[in-house]
Amino acid sequence: MPNFEAELKQRLDSIRQQGLFRELHRLDSPQGPRLRHNGRELINFSSNDYLGLTNHPALTEAAIKSVEQFGAGSGASRLICGSLAPHHELEEALAAFKGTKAALTFSTGYAAALGTIPALLGRDDVVILDKLVHACIVDAARLSGAKIRIFAHNDLNDLGKILKWSRHNNQPPTSGIQRPRNVLVVTESVFSMDGDHAPLAEIVALKEKYGAWLMVDEAHATGLYGQHRRGLADALGVSESIEIQMGTLGKALGASGGYLCGSRTLIDLLVNRARSFIFSTAPVPAAAAAAQAAIQLVQSREGAIRCEQLWQHVQVVGDDFRRLKLTPRESLPRITASPANATKPSAIIPVILGQESAAVTAATKLRAQGFFVPAIRYPTVARGSARLRVTLTAAHTAADVAQLAGALAELVSHQS
Ligand SMILES: *Cc1c(COP(=O)(O)O)cnc(C)c1O
Repeated sequence: MPNFEAELKQRLDSIRQQGLFRELHRLDSPQGPRLRHNGRELINFSSNDYLGLTNHPALTEAAIKSVEQFGAGSGASRLICGSLAPHHELEEALAAFKGTKAALTFSTGYAAALGTIPALLGRDDVVILDKLVHACIVDAARLSGAKIRIFAHNDLNDLGKILKWSRHNNQPPTSGIQRPRNVLVVTESVFSMDGDHAPLAEIVALKEKYGAWLMVDEAHATGLYGQHRRGLADALGVSESIEIQMGTLGKALGASGGYLCGSRTLIDLLVNRARSFIFSTAPVPAAAAAAQAAIQLVQSREGAIRCEQLWQHVQVVGDDFRRLKLTPRESLPRITASPANATKPSAIIPVILGQESAAVTAATKLRAQGFFVPAIRYPTVARGSARLRVTLTAAHTAADVAQLAGALAELVSHQS
């Protein structure tokens, strides 16, 4: 048997050779538009805290109050030692915000996906995923044991073909329990690494035509789209047709945790069947309290102002890129003329560089110039599509954004 350390070292060497080695960058400051890293201040363009809420007093004070009232921990799973009031208050606020009958929160978005898909599907079922869905959905689909089919990214034609196939192969299995096979389509509304939008209205029409269910992960849309910033599904007027609405409390909402919104029956089933909910200690009450404060804030006038600020920054960077013709058009978010339009751009701006090493070199160079921008590589994105993933937030200043645009312009012009 190979020596444990030697074997692991060999694997790490192979990761390094492919330019895929990852390491942690210790920060000595809170998350925010400015970070302290190695004794220097960097402007942060890596966070998903799109509205700049992680350090907002409304959230931090709610968390502190909750610690004082409910303690630092939660003791056990919510089914075992009772379910703390802050979790219930958060779920009521979430359901009201999302316009659904009920909601359930998990310790993370990852745990929400991992609990939900296996709770709904089993070996006789089919799950159809967009090619670019997040790792937690892929893992959840695998864990469910359902047959997995992948459709080309945002390709309605391909999705239609697979749905048609699934209907023709939708006979109950010859042995075992005689029940119709269930077919679940899963997509994101705004994609995490490309920032583009799913054609949700068309996907809804297709899943209805073929009698499938739909789950939409709004991790990068909740808090940002639509009149009340409920998400892209709401902005497009299709949320009532989506059986399973998922998201995270850790991105635009600035707190931590994952959620599922839908019918009361869905939530009751998840409480009974979602293993990542049942067999895991409840999130700390402070996280629930902070998230609830964020939901209130997002819907307020301040939420609207912060969101508008974010879209202005996105517009500036997008305009700059297009003016300088720096990257292929398709790697940039589409910016529509009207900011009131439902199909807004996204705060995720990928600068696709291709080679893994090119992305790492670019990120290192930017760090030396005072910008913290992550290099995103396989397996987060496909091999050969490594990129810088720039995220803008409402907490950036116009000067931050202008400086970044300048640095990227210089970087990419040297590249080509
Ligand atoms: C971040 C993310 C998740 C996971 O949410 P966490 O709360 O961070 O675990 C799920 N789906 C997508 C698309 C994400 O980007």
